Amino acid sequence: MKKLGQHFLIDYSILDRLVEYASISRDDVVLEVGAGTGELTWRLARKARKVIAVEIDEKLALEASKKLSIYDNVELIRGDILELRKNIKGFNKVVSNPPYQISTKLMYWLIMNLPEKIVLTLQKEFAQKITSTPGSRKYVYTSFLANLFYKSQIVEEVPRSFFKPMPKVDSSIIIMERKNNENTVGEEELNIIKSLFTQRMRKLRKALSSVAAALQLNLKEIEKVLPSELLDERVYRLEPAKLCEIAKIIMNLKD
Ligand code: SAH
Repeated sequence: MKKLGQHFLIDYSILDRLVEYASISRDDVVLEVGAGTGELTWRLARKARKVIAVEIDEKLALEASKKLSIYDNVELIRGDILELRKNIKGFNKVVSNPPYQISTKLMYWLIMNLPEKIVLTLQKEFAQKITSTPGSRKYVYTSFLANLFYKSQIVEEVPRSFFKPMPKVDSSIIIMERKNNENTVGEEELNIIKSLFTQRMRKLRKALSSVAAALQLNLKEIEKVLPSELLDERVYRLEPAKLCEIAKIIMNLKD
């Protein structure tokens, strides 16, 4: 059977705080992924203009729909968020205790939608990746993506005993706030950066050689258009805006 990561928050004060961290008002359309029995959902519904709640498990969704029937501002969708995501739009905040096994995919998708605020419980190690900054050993591609668009902080560690059934991993609550920058980056540039991160501890010069091959570019040509102090820096130490600039320069060579 497919794992669904069903660990419910049974400490209700945490649910209240998740809502508070998101400072929800009647202007907000909030997305919740993995609504379970709707305990967090109704708390969101009391504050938000609208809540879009997604739950894959039929039984749980039914239980949630009963609990939520008195709220006319909840759209409860029964289904797999990874299949539905293309059709889910129009939310400006995300508050959720999502299933951890889809964290990475969920995070990519959320970031590309650019909601102004994201409040999540996450596996502790994953939360640390999201909040890590360039130069940290934890800094991976997902960290880069988060850093490019968001200011992220861990605000609480959540004890395992706050979940039922008790999980085997530690959890943290993370708040991500959209940065006020105008960063834009295309899919092709992101693919270049993603492949650079597969060799993130290497110097850019070295990591670029496989990128060059994949793009059918000559490494020497790339080296000519990039300053040597950048080429001698390690991938995971480069600032996100710099990496985007590098990827754009490389894509220009393609044209
Ligand atoms: N928010 C609830 C439940 C969290 S547990 C609470 O805090 O109590 C995670 C929930 O996500 C479970 O209800 C599980 O059934 C649901 N889920 C798992 N995979 C999913 C997916 N791909 N799409 C939507 N929901 C999913």
